[in-house]
Amino acid sequence: MANTIHILWVGTTPAAHVDALNVAGRVSEAPELLDAMRLSNDIDFDAAIIDAEALQEGAFTLLRHLRARSSRRYMPVLFWSSRGAVEDRVKALVAGADDWVHASIDAQELLARLMRSLGLRARIDGLLSETERLYELSLTDGLTQIANHRHFQDRLRDEFRRAQRYDDPLALILIDLDHFKDVNDRHGHLVGDQVLKEVAVAIKKSVRETDFVARYGGEEFAVVLPKTQLAGALTVAERVWLDVGALRLGAPPGFAITASLGLSGYPSRTIVSAEQMVRCADEALYRAKREGRNKIAIYQAETFAEAV
Ligand code: GH3
Ligand code: MG
Ligand code: MG
Repeated sequence: MANTIHILWVGTTPAAHVDALNVAGRVSEAPELLDAMRLSNDIDFDAAIIDAEALQEGAFTLLRHLRARSSRRYMPVLFWSSRGAVEDRVKALVAGADDWVHASIDAQELLARLMRSLGLRARIDGLLSETERLYELSLTDGLTQIANHRHFQDRLRDEFRRAQRYDDPLALILIDLDHFKDVNDRHGHLVGDQVLKEVAVAIKKSVRETDFVARYGGEEFAVVLPKTQLAGALTVAERVWLDVGALRLGAPPGFAITASLGLSGYPSRTIVSAEQMVRCADEALYRAKREGRNKIAIYQAETFAEAV
């Protein structure tokens, strides 16, 4: 283990055992429950040994306290007692202690048991960070490194629920690059991929920190704008439209692309779900395409308003 192991020992602390553990790490001694609580609030211990006989019910209180404190980082907790009744051992293990050792245990065996628990903890920590990494990956688009379609769906649903509950406005912008197939045909897919990456960066730069940008699909992007009225969303859409149009892509002097944008906003008579928000923004986008592309269109309950 690379760093010093910091062990909390609560209750009676036999000198020989503490000395043995101090060779492998550093022991902090806490005679009473309250000392242990205080110390564990200040120090991020790697493991704890609790004298179950000295602390009685307090041993279980402390166990719960330690578990609650290090919910992200698993902490091995060993119960130590001179009483050997099976029911005591079972009670400790059922409550979540990692091990139960008799006070007569040899110091080296105690150290070995502790190291085994710490080894297990290192594996759990490794799995936790791997899970976190995989979770992030499951929400991220591999090409552009922005949120992917699944993340977008989750976020839009959350924001829609929040908007409904707090009576807040919510807006959605769908962005579709115009004639993107031609970009691939003319410049190749690798350039096409690079364009998508640069567009993602440009869109992120054009919106606020609180707005949420995702790759909706192939050459389509989405921006969720919490607490934003349609008028405000239109300003953002115009900025995105301008910034994407201003990009110079590929080898210098570079070529330009254009985008069509569709907007929908809540509250609206016809929108009662996140899915409908998408459908309505998509309808507006479709209209922008139909009317010649390189445009922004807003969905309105009865008619479409053309913005650009
Ligand atoms: P429109 O103006 O009607 O949107 O025309 P379009 O060509 O953009 O639309 P269409 O849906 O016909 O084609 C989308 C193109 O986007 C086709 C596909 O090859 C390209 N595309 C989708 N995903 C990727 C990607 O990850 N990389 C690259 N290079 N191209 C992609
Ligand atoms: Mg498309
Ligand atoms: Mg397109």
